[in-house]
Amino acid sequence: MDFSKWVPLISTIYVLFSLTLTLLNCNLNPEELAEIPINFLNLAKRPEILDWMVGVRRKLHENPELGFEEFETSKLIRHELDKMGIPYKYPIAVTGFVGFIGTGKPPFVAIRADMDALAMQESVEWEHKSKVEGKMHGCGHDAHVAMLLGAAKLLQEHRHDLQGTVILVFQPAEEGGGGAKIMTETGILENVAAIFGLHVSTRFPIGAVASRSGSILAGSGCFEAIINGKGGHAALPQHTIDPILAASNVIVSLQYLVSREADPLDSQVVTVAQFQGGNAFNVIPDSATIGGTFRAFSEEGLMGLKRRIEEVITRQAAVHKCNATVNFDDKPFFPVTVNNEQLHQYFRNVARDMLGERNILEMKPIMGSEDFSFFAKVIPGYFYYVGMQNETGERLHPGHSPFFTVNEEVLPYGAALHASLAMRYLLEYQPKSASSNVISHDEL
Ligand SMILES: [Zn+2]
Ligand SMILES: [Zn+2]
Repeated sequence: MDFSKWVPLISTIYVLFSLTLTLLNCNLNPEELAEIPINFLNLAKRPEILDWMVGVRRKLHENPELGFEEFETSKLIRHELDKMGIPYKYPIAVTGFVGFIGTGKPPFVAIRADMDALAMQESVEWEHKSKVEGKMHGCGHDAHVAMLLGAAKLLQEHRHDLQGTVILVFQPAEEGGGGAKIMTETGILENVAAIFGLHVSTRFPIGAVASRSGSILAGSGCFEAIINGKGGHAALPQHTIDPILAASNVIVSLQYLVSREADPLDSQVVTVAQFQGGNAFNVIPDSATIGGTFRAFSEEGLMGLKRRIEEVITRQAAVHKCNATVNFDDKPFFPVTVNNEQLHQYFRNVARDMLGERNILEMKPIMGSEDFSFFAKVIPGYFYYVGMQNETGERLHPGHSPFFTVNEEVLPYGAALHASLAMRYLLEYQPKSASSNVISHDEL
């Protein structure tokens, strides 16, 4: 029987019978599937798309906004989506929003970019340096936005080939604010089958990607403690209760949590990165403040550290006759970022088709953290790094450095990976039960 005769019929009834969606996959053989990422990369490298992405990225770089303040950033992106005729739902989590491309029906697959900048001063002297004192896109989120917009353009141009709906997630406040947490709480990932996120990296060469299956980034929390004593003359310590010395001992004691209490094979970190107290060389202050972060690769590990950090600070302070209060509530805890095993294999296939086997790198877990973890906790998620180190050029400074720069050659890779992962996912992973076809996003 000639299968092609059935295709038009199948196409018309697939909304009712999802089983036929699976059959539609038969139309594309592995060679045809492999062409999708190659074609998207070639398209993304075309001057009209590349120059536009570079322009967007530079505009954002000049005008960085911090977490939950990305109003102009969000407006600029939505304006670009308007020009492409892509609908979206705004606002979600203050400045965030989601856009939609495709049939408006399941399956749904999401691709995500973060939009926020860092509270730091840029030290790179170039034409598009940050115009805002003390704020900088020092982590490359300006590039992430440009890449997702690039993917939106590629997918919108091929919207009639999409076998479902791509959800574009533009999230606020990745840098500690947990914008992803708030976005997931609004239900944007309901009925979404998978989500992909990326980060530019100076550790890997341009044209290469790196990731791993399972835990890739640590869970993290932060703390601040105020240690109260009794101030006085620095030459008469017997009349004071010295919070500086107490805080110093607290900091030393905290080092034992990882070196003596944690399993050496279970990576953990406790770092005190802030220490404030006193304004004069001859005055013992009333109080000292310390702050820091802690990391672990399990929920239990993270909660165990939290409990012990509080105990060590309050009890060690008491040894020195000080009172201490510990605050963990300032910022949300980030869960461990866990890459779905099935998506890992899928990612490798798509990336290999685009970049070749030797450019797909396996990486070790790192103690950094990402609020993409909130998405990946709710639905299967996959996070990967896109290399931008040009081997022939000077070495780039890493993220969060005031000298951080983005190699803009990376933009087509990110855009094409986003678009390919989304489009092929819809082709390769179709729902198996008819009931899932009645599901739709309210906003569509
Ligand atoms: Zn960052
Ligand atoms: Zn980042």
